[in-house]
Amino acid sequence: MQMMQKIKDEEKNNSQVAMIAYNLTDVIGPRLTNSPGYNRSLDWITEICKKWGLQNAGREAWGEFGKGWSNETGTLALKLPYYQDIIAYPVPWCKSTGKAIRAEVVMIDNFDSASIDKLGAAIKGKIVMIKPGGTSIPDAFKAYATRYGDTSLDNISEKYMVTRQQMESFLPFIKSEYYTKLYLEKKGAVGLIRSGRGSIDGTVFVDGGTGYAKGYAATLAEMKTGREDYLKLMRLIKDNKKVEMEMNVQNTFYDKDLTGYNVVAEIPGTDPTLKSEVVMLGGHLDSWASGTGATDNAAGCIATLEAIRILKALNIQPKRTIRIALWGGEEQGLYGSFGYVKKHFGDPADMKLKTEQSKISAYYNLDNGSGKIRGIYTQGNEAVRDIFKAWLAPFADMGASGGVTLSNTGSTDHISFDAAGIPGFQFIQDPLEYETRTHHSNMDTYDHLSIEDLKQAAVIIAAFVYNTAMRTEMLPRKPLPKAEKFVFDFDFPI
Ligand SMILES: [Zn+2]
Repeated sequence: MQMMQKIKDEEKNNSQVAMIAYNLTDVIGPRLTNSPGYNRSLDWITEICKKWGLQNAGREAWGEFGKGWSNETGTLALKLPYYQDIIAYPVPWCKSTGKAIRAEVVMIDNFDSASIDKLGAAIKGKIVMIKPGGTSIPDAFKAYATRYGDTSLDNISEKYMVTRQQMESFLPFIKSEYYTKLYLEKKGAVGLIRSGRGSIDGTVFVDGGTGYAKGYAATLAEMKTGREDYLKLMRLIKDNKKVEMEMNVQNTFYDKDLTGYNVVAEIPGTDPTLKSEVVMLGGHLDSWASGTGATDNAAGCIATLEAIRILKALNIQPKRTIRIALWGGEEQGLYGSFGYVKKHFGDPADMKLKTEQSKISAYYNLDNGSGKIRGIYTQGNEAVRDIFKAWLAPFADMGASGGVTLSNTGSTDHISFDAAGIPGFQFIQDPLEYETRTHHSNMDTYDHLSIEDLKQAAVIIAAFVYNTAMRTEMLPRKPLPKAEKFVFDFDFPI
């Protein structure tokens, strides 16, 4: 227990959380996979890990991702019936407009070829919007941010669980969106504008975007707008008022190196036998592009980087090797972690496992925003429940009162490990304003991070990693999963 106090003290006295947060967001900017910002983050992390004295720090290829993309200009303005700036951001991997274009805005009923055809030749040279699903914005009486209560964390339900069935039903939709965009451009439209239901109060959610993979064409210039602006356009067009806008989108594509990279670093183990075994920690490093990916997921990178820094600073001499891995391509389908798992441990599709698979004790992931750790999802691994309860106990005074649930959580990188039979865990975090405000939005920026919550998370992750590295045995495992194609292993780049 003395070590737990040392970990707390190191964080209290020498925290680097704010420094890491500032660099990964304000300084580096958005970290869309394979973009210049993403590459800057790989280099910065490599450098800082070396500076802290970690070993084997550097980027590691996981397979082919596709083209990088960065946005240099993205403006949208109403020109008729009067001038007004519109809050709007380009969708990643869309094309440029060439020069600034001024065009009439037309509205189609649904995003499909039939609705496009209904406008006939009139769609040529137009900016297209899609009739919104509703006609108003949600009321403002609900707080954006929440924390979990102290009770019920043991019984927390499944979260972010995207089932295989859901993913499989989702894929035809993504494909049809992509091909509809190509069709729209073929019919002569010059731009596409859309808006999500939650994009209110200056927050705009901007994600998706296809066409990055080799052999896939980029789609036409597309921007996501604030909901209030979008509803106004709808009302004007419905009333047969002439609406014109100016759209200026300038992007650069990068196709010299299509390889996808993660970044890794280690504290080598010191026990003659156990040093060949590994404890891993991490989260995804890539982000979307309208903010700076602060809560999704610089937060997880900040907390795990700080955790390994604490352990190195305390010169702990772990029995097992400790390895941090920060992943690319998560937002497009857990590509970085899944590629890593396939390369090192084996493909869940055939479960022909490599030797390294038997040497990873656990992988700890953080990717549910900036909220402090309240417990952990065990992914149905009964045997770790009491171990984790005991490990959380010293942190009751920091808000981690021991929520250990058997529930699963999905949609992030521990799933790649779990699919190959390696204990992979995601922590339970306070939601804060993650889903309402920052997740994939233009407001995902430094000021929406809770630095104090991240300090707490770093301490608890450091403790879990330390305990796993020093334990006599590796962590108990669930029975091996049956061979099954990985849930995100698509034949189409999403
Ligand atoms: Zn994420």
